[in-house]
Amino acid sequence: MTTYVEETLVLVKPDGVARNLTGEILRRIEAKGYQLVDLKMIEPDRELLAAHYEEHLGKPFYEPLVEFMESGPIVAIRIAGNRVIEGFRSLAGTTDPTTAAPGTIRGDLGRDWGLAVQQNLVHGSDSPESAARELALWF
Ligand code: GDP
Ligand code: MG
Repeated sequence: MTTYVEETLVLVKPDGVARNLTGEILRRIEAKGYQLVDLKMIEPDRELLAAHYEEHLGKPFYEPLVEFMESGPIVAIRIAGNRVIEGFRSLAGTTDPTTAAPGTIRGDLGRDWGLAVQQNLVHGSDSPESAARELALWF
């Protein structure tokens, strides 16, 4: 049997770290069966955030997003598993915490603070190309 093990980047965003949800998020990743490959706490500079979010440059939430991501420490995690890119996006739930499905990280734990940016606890790479690019940036 051939198993294809894929990797993705997960970030516990500053709201997740500040709300002491890092352990809960790691618990859900491990309970799903994904492997933790590497993990670190980091306070990214603007250059890293600009590269990470280059696809969103020029959007109305871009500046609030970068400021939010600079507002406190982030936990960066490299995880592995079969179809983990798609699988973690499924665990995370959709972008807006108000409408993210119950059972997901954002749906269960995300709060709508009515701010200019959605503080939705986690980031997960959205494609194999994004995962490779983002893992190289953060690790
Ligand atoms: P993700 O892949 O689900 O994280 O979403 P995107 O890649 O589209 O956006 C990156 C991040 O920008 C999201 O996780 C949110 O924190 C924020 N964001 C995206 N779209 C919006 C929006 O329409 N409004 C607000 N306020 N924030 C947004
Ligand atoms: Mg995205």
